[in-house]
Amino acid sequence: MRKVLVSRCLLGHPVRYDGGAQGPFALLERWQALGLVVPLCPEVAGGLPTPRPPAEIRGARGADALAGLIPVLTIEGEDVSAAFLGGALRAVELARQENIRFALLKARSPSCGNEEGYDGSFSGRRVAGEGVTAAALRQAGVRVFNEGQIAELAQMLEGRIG
Ligand code: SF4
Repeated sequence: MRKVLVSRCLLGHPVRYDGGAQGPFALLERWQALGLVVPLCPEVAGGLPTPRPPAEIRGARGADALAGLIPVLTIEGEDVSAAFLGGALRAVELARQENIRFALLKARSPSCGNEEGYDGSFSGRRVAGEGVTAAALRQAGVRVFNEGQIAELAQMLEGRIG
């Protein structure tokens, strides 16, 4: 059975920067009951506390941050790149260990966002892009979905379950 890496905040774990969470999602609960869910919060795994100041990447360029070309900065201007990279490496390590090919990650997060993020100005402006962990997983061959794409992911997984 194929396992899925899932953002912990989508499983109701209060690990978001503001101490919040999302869910529960009925489908995720079902996958958890089947033992298919591997939970991870890359930012917490990278050593950041909860709550923590919000962070953004200029242009939502997660792959460039992963490559060390641009920093991940908090709203206070602190460089938290090392923690974000640590979390991304942990995600890739887990994916390899568990033979994971699919991930369900929180949309628009500077770690987890797969298609879109905030532009780095902390003004709420969205741009096409991805987070650091989403970029690392994509480069490792893992297909990344967000919570708005659960049905699409379910369709792909259901064909592989059982
Ligand atoms: Fe953690 Fe990702 Fe959720 Fe942010 S979006 S709280 S990094 S799991």
